[in-house]
Amino acid sequence: MYRVSKETMVYTMSPNNLPVMRVESGSTLVFETCDCFEDQIKTVDTPFNELDWNRINPATGPVFVKGAEPGDALCVKIQSIKVGDQGVMVTGPDMGVIGDELEENSIRIVPIKNNRAIFSEKIELKLNPMVGVIGTAPARESIPCGEPGSHGGNMDCKVITEDASVYLPVNVPGALLAMGDLHAVMGDGEVSVCGVEVPGEVTVTVEVIKGHDLPLPMVTTEEAVYTIASEMSLDEAAQSAVRGMVKILEGYGLSKDEAIGLMSAGGDLQICQVVDPKKTARFRMSRSILKALGAPGNGMDI
Ligand code: CA
Ligand code: ZN
Repeated sequence: MYRVSKETMVYTMSPNNLPVMRVESGSTLVFETCDCFEDQIKTVDTPFNELDWNRINPATGPVFVKGAEPGDALCVKIQSIKVGDQGVMVTGPDMGVIGDELEENSIRIVPIKNNRAIFSEKIELKLNPMVGVIGTAPARESIPCGEPGSHGGNMDCKVITEDASVYLPVNVPGALLAMGDLHAVMGDGEVSVCGVEVPGEVTVTVEVIKGHDLPLPMVTTEEAVYTIASEMSLDEAAQSAVRGMVKILEGYGLSKDEAIGLMSAGGDLQICQVVDPKKTARFRMSRSILKALGAPGNGMDI
């Protein structure tokens, strides 16, 4: 098993990043990750103005997956996520959905114990460890790891958790996979600007998929298939996610109007996050409905 150290990190997803490791398709790797503040906040007294804001949203990697060529897809199966024993949250006037209604920046330390995030004396939340940032290099641009896009990136999607498979585009040879920004738990929308931000370790298996016809990025779980889209507005993100799922259903032989009808009756348009430089939406279709449609045209289990 490969181990990718959190000492080797990037702040952009870029075709110019040098790979820290080359692995075969089918390999299992452990990515060690810092939290999104690069572990700079240890206590509630950490002064905000002393934080180095150039060291935000690091992603560990990138890893070169042999055989991955532009046009392929990279399937990243999340085998397990281990999180540290303390999470951190911040919010303030320039952050989140209604930051302008806040007067001061604040830091909250959230101890993690017995599979729970201790939010306050009264409130303990069951953990849902998830990967906030996961992506491949874009073809030409360098995109900050804090931004989501068609390459993946900071999608802050809470279904990217243990046992999910994330499908990302391959835009450059080797794909250049990087990830970070784990959350011990996060609600849809990420309204304060963050989840319970934690360092940790993610164990994944990577697989190159040739000749695919998938709308990317996508996530699959045992229960459901999701298309994910990030655009400047939530409306546009919703449209793109819906278009992606229509394409999948057309692969099962449905006409466009049948697909949209089925999605309207039996699917769910959901919000990932509305606080990053682009907004991210997802569309969920249950496996049970897809199964009832028969075999998909693309021959894949999607
Ligand atoms: Ca994030
Ligand atoms: Zn985060």
